Amino acid sequence: MEASHSKLPIYRQALDWDKYCRDYPMPDVFEQTVYRYPPEKIRALQNERFLQVVHAGWSNPFYAKRWRDKGLVPGDIRSIDDIAKLPSFNSDDIKQSIESDPPYGAFHGVDESTFASVPLKLQTSGGTTGMPRGTLADPLAWETQALTSARAIYVQGGRPGDVMQIPMTCSLANAPWQTYKACHDFLGIMALTTGSGIVTASRQQLEIAFRYGTNLWTSFPEYLTRLAEVCREEIKRDVIDLKTKFIRTYLGPDLEGTLRRELADTWGCPIYDTYGTHEMGTAGFDCREQSGMHVMEDTLYLEIVDVETGEPVAPGERGNMVVTVFFRNIPPIIRYNLRDLCRFLPDSLTKPCACGSHFRRMDHFLGRSDAMVKLRGVNVYPMACLPAIKSDERTTGEWVCVVSRTDGAAAARDEMEVRIEVKRDAASRDGLKASMEKRLREDLGVSVAVTLVDQGSLAELANTGGREGKAKRLVDRRPGYQAKSGA
Ligand SMILES: [Zn+2]
Repeated sequence: MEASHSKLPIYRQALDWDKYCRDYPMPDVFEQTVYRYPPEKIRALQNERFLQVVHAGWSNPFYAKRWRDKGLVPGDIRSIDDIAKLPSFNSDDIKQSIESDPPYGAFHGVDESTFASVPLKLQTSGGTTGMPRGTLADPLAWETQALTSARAIYVQGGRPGDVMQIPMTCSLANAPWQTYKACHDFLGIMALTTGSGIVTASRQQLEIAFRYGTNLWTSFPEYLTRLAEVCREEIKRDVIDLKTKFIRTYLGPDLEGTLRRELADTWGCPIYDTYGTHEMGTAGFDCREQSGMHVMEDTLYLEIVDVETGEPVAPGERGNMVVTVFFRNIPPIIRYNLRDLCRFLPDSLTKPCACGSHFRRMDHFLGRSDAMVKLRGVNVYPMACLPAIKSDERTTGEWVCVVSRTDGAAAARDEMEVRIEVKRDAASRDGLKASMEKRLREDLGVSVAVTLVDQGSLAELANTGGREGKAKRLVDRRPGYQAKSGA
């Protein structure tokens, strides 16, 4: 080897870029090719990639053991039609794997030589309690996660010369890195990595936006609302003056589009929903039709399974999302049950979208299924209260579900009380309790008691009112359930 040739694990030499661009087309090429493939061609590509992933899985101790325990041997899985024969796993299994072999677990399939030869990046889950779970990304994963975001931004209309502001801190959290790289590495869009409001105050975020011509944003709904307020109150301007092209955000269970409409009115631009994790990058994204999030079919395979049995549900039924990621080797991700509730939009399984893509579309994601409460035989998801609470302008939009057990004369009975904040300046509370109880009974399929409370009074219990971290929508006070509700 010549002295001029570096022996270091140089990142830029870690991928064969020509091959990479053929395997995973760049955003503009993607939009004209794979994105418009007919369903059979997508399935064939998925089949080919799935078999490669299964092959790799057999040399990973975590998967090989689980598969052997289920009586499988190499060669049993012959096509993607056999996928449900492989056992799924969830984050508890990863945690266990990490605990018995910290800090990466057999799950990652790495040893010391991997670290000395492959450039790796560690990102973590957004765990709300305890130590966040770390996942490594090799160059293929690191690039492809960013590419998935870049493709979504391109489909949505982002073009070279645009300016994307990212008010999220590039930390062990994945989304800001992925967005930065998407814009900078793949799209010729200037990325303003201003960090969260703690790093760059909201007023300054807006001054930067006006100065450098920010016309795209990636941020959370709560913060976008906050920015609009600060703009009015402290800068004496309207965010509409920014002439934003579009905003990428995380709408969650916005079933009736109330949150999307509010943001669109406030900012004067389309609002595009996104779903993803640090293991799989952007898994679902809105196109300009806003007709459900297209699944990134050539980078992952998404299944929906029954929450209790784990068996695949009928097409279009709701259940837990199970993902197999085609671009991941360290660690492989094969039938990972995300325990996030969703469904495929039934018409997307038979017809292409008006945008021309056959990529299946997912409905709004309904939140974590492990935050589900079984109430008198009915599965209740606290996040499903959102549309009801947003439907009346007198509420602040904040609520929390408190579940308790009453020991009646006959038998113990589980009850759920939904505490809803009412705006300080609400003209009256007339009829509000009754209308909320009626609407919630329709939406949840079970009767719940509503208690109206003053604006701001749920801050501590529900972790709302601008506190760090996610809001808590379930407080389970039944004996033995405390640990679950804190997770
Ligand atoms: Zn579409």
